Amino acid sequence: MKHAILVFLLAIISVNNFSCKKSDTITGLPSINSDNNKQVGASANDLLSATTYTSIKIEIQYMPGFAPDAASLNNLTAFFNTLVNKPGGVTIVQSAITGSGKTVLSLNDIATIEKNNRTAYTSGSQLGVYFLYTDGGYTEGNVLGVAFRNTSMCIFGKTIHDNSGGIGQASRTKLESTVLEHEAGHILGLVDVGTTMQTNHKDAAHGSHCNNTNCLMYYASETTDVLGFLITGSIPPLDANCKADLKANGGK
Ligand SMILES: [Zn+2]
Ligand SMILES: [Zn+2]
Repeated sequence: MKHAILVFLLAIISVNNFSCKKSDTITGLPSINSDNNKQVGASANDLLSATTYTSIKIEIQYMPGFAPDAASLNNLTAFFNTLVNKPGGVTIVQSAITGSGKTVLSLNDIATIEKNNRTAYTSGSQLGVYFLYTDGGYTEGNVLGVAFRNTSMCIFGKTIHDNSGGIGQASRTKLESTVLEHEAGHILGLVDVGTTMQTNHKDAAHGSHCNNTNCLMYYASETTDVLGFLITGSIPPLDANCKADLKANGGK
């Protein structure tokens, strides 16, 4: 039997250098409203604490054929509820949008689609968070998801489908949940992008990731066993170091 190529790369995209002030707005991409046009991690405290925002609305927009897996969205909601202090709750709304028709999408393509379709923006006491599910892959073909602004993430639906649900592959729910939660971890400021580390656990070779191979925020490439792990194992949880960071920045 042809052995499926194991591809597992979760990416965080930094348009600006992380050494910039974290509240700096994003440049180089089509702008969205100012509260949501910041760098990854810039809203970590706002997402974790109830100080300024008491609820989160997650908008998911998907292209034809790539509707989210329902169990994965339940897992995502539970993930947020476990970590953030939001007395007003965390809600998900989803809608279909026009397909891109592209095999490969660039970061600029993704940001343009977001700008043209997104409706959930931060307003009043509610934070707006956005996931786009695409019908194509990323310019780096082994990337499954990206976090590219303070409340903006993309799931490469075609790449997820190609790498899950088949014989010898991880289940759709396990892979999709892992990517959703991993990208959400980045906008919550992990690792060391808007949420200060309580102890040093950053993977020096893969900035913004955790050095614990069993942690959700571990950086895993096609040369690792992580996807293989998902076939028999569970969705990786956050380890103690990542949890401690989030708690110290206003989370549960
Ligand atoms: Zn990552
Ligand atoms: Zn960790």
